[in-house]
Amino acid sequence: MEPIDRRGFMKSMAGTAALTGSELAAASEQPSGRPVFLATWPFGKSANERAAEVYHRGGSLMDAVEKGINVVEDDPAVMSVGYGGLPNAEGVVELDAAIMDGTRHRAGSVCNLHMIKNPISVARQVIEKTRHTTMAGDGAFQFAMKLGFQPQQLLTPASLKRWLEWKTNPNRQTFWLNPTENHDTIGLVATDGEGHMAAGCSTSGLAWKIPGRVADSSLVGCGVYADDRAGGASATGDGDIMTNYCTSVTIVQLMASGASPQEACEEILRHMVRTDPSNRSAQAAVIAMSNRGETGAVCMNPQFRLRYALWKDGASQLLDGKVLYD
Ligand code: ASP
Repeated sequence: MEPIDRRGFMKSMAGTAALTGSELAAASEQPSGRPVFLATWPFGKSANERAAEVYHRGGSLMDAVEKGINVVEDDPAVMSVGYGGLPNAEGVVELDAAIMDGTRHRAGSVCNLHMIKNPISVARQVIEKTRHTTMAGDGAFQFAMKLGFQPQQLLTPASLKRWLEWKTNPNRQTFWLNPTENHDTIGLVATDGEGHMAAGCSTSGLAWKIPGRVADSSLVGCGVYADDRAGGASATGDGDIMTNYCTSVTIVQLMASGASPQEACEEILRHMVRTDPSNRSAQAAVIAMSNRGETGAVCMNPQFRLRYALWKDGASQLLDGKVLYD
């Protein structure tokens, strides 16, 4: 798809007649020359801070994204990512992750990975060491073993206790078309301030998911996407819904067509509701950043509020995403 200019995009959006002054100013804005890191959820703050540190010490943007996400994967207190993440229905921690270099236009991902606490690092190695893009299950595990990753039990006493409580509850909800809610992916989108983009995400997925389930976080373009031509995006929430909309690549394409990150985030969630009104109550949230370092963050409804982290000009803060439907 050829990029169209911002005016073209705005004209094409229903109900939008003309650009405002601030929109024209934004359209002519150049990259700032300063890096920006944007991440999902409050735990994204420490991920951003680590990413900024790695970058300022001479690491690449991809190093920054990977190492930033490692912080959350390593934290047993985060029960939706990496070590300590809540397991699948059989009590096995099953991890998904993807990382994309917007400059090389190259992504790597792993899904259904067991016993390796840093799936984002394995995904990175898929890019650096192979001609493949996605590795799954035992093959991904064997690949990680060959590269020297250490296998370990990823259940913690706390996550094991949660699983046992769920498993022994005769009225437990399952994902056989009867969803439960226990998740939250770390998604991190970064720019170097020179127009280069990288993005990654990592998750243990929906708690108690049916073993073998693969959703947005390891599917390139769904949970994460980056393209220097326009920007990067990441999604969090019900990954089965996110996958049906190729959420992250759609956001980036909207930006390539002239939408701001905020407009693009809102548009994909509106599209979900237009195509299926029941999605209005979906757990869905997205973040995006343009290649000029502008950011956007939106969640579908107040039941799934998005608190996100932004690192910019040395300041690291937590902010609230826009709630699209009250
Ligand atoms: N999208 C993830 C999944 O469905 C979970 C989340 O982001 O909350 O696996």
